[in-house]
Amino acid sequence: MIKNILLGFFALAALALAALIVLDRLGDRSTDPLVRCANHVAQHRLMLRLFLETESAKLPEALDAREALRAVLKELKSETASWLDTELAACPEPYARRRSIGYVYFGSGLAAEVVREKKALVLLCPAESHEGRWACGLAGGEGGLELFLGDGAQALELLSRAVRAGERGEVAYTKDALHALRDERDRRRARLGRE
Ligand SMILES: [Zn+2]
Repeated sequence: MIKNILLGFFALAALALAALIVLDRLGDRSTDPLVRCANHVAQHRLMLRLFLETESAKLPEALDAREALRAVLKELKSETASWLDTELAACPEPYARRRSIGYVYFGSGLAAEVVREKKALVLLCPAESHEGRWACGLAGGEGGLELFLGDGAQALELLSRAVRAGERGEVAYTKDALHALRDERDRRRARLGRE
């Protein structure tokens, strides 16, 4: 019974996702890389929120954002995973340079509850994107997972807070994720010309 309900849920989720992707493809004509980036992150937010409502309630254990999102699509029984290899899923600049999805993923293995209550940082544009002036990302919040769109200083603050939470053990970022958080924090700080 529960399994059937879950399967029904997954089918609906997959349908909703397919509709979203079609809408995104129709609507993704903005020439502004930041607007495109924010659209892509908003789409990832919807997928991850659906995923976190399933029984696993834990973000995928993965080293990078593309791998994590692929695991999410697999769990949601979506047939559209190849879309993750396109610009429509990526931060546009790293994608143009090396076909990278761009977003740095910090959420590996974090429980939904921790993400929400500790406002854990899940993913963020790399420091070199949008000239370091802007960043899009996802972090925990009252709605479970919120879209972050901020300037360089706000992104630095977000990263610094995440590093502190990781170092204090408030959020169980993996060793690799904590390393990536410190690295992104330091590169943003250097861009902003701070010590
Ligand atoms: Zn971006």
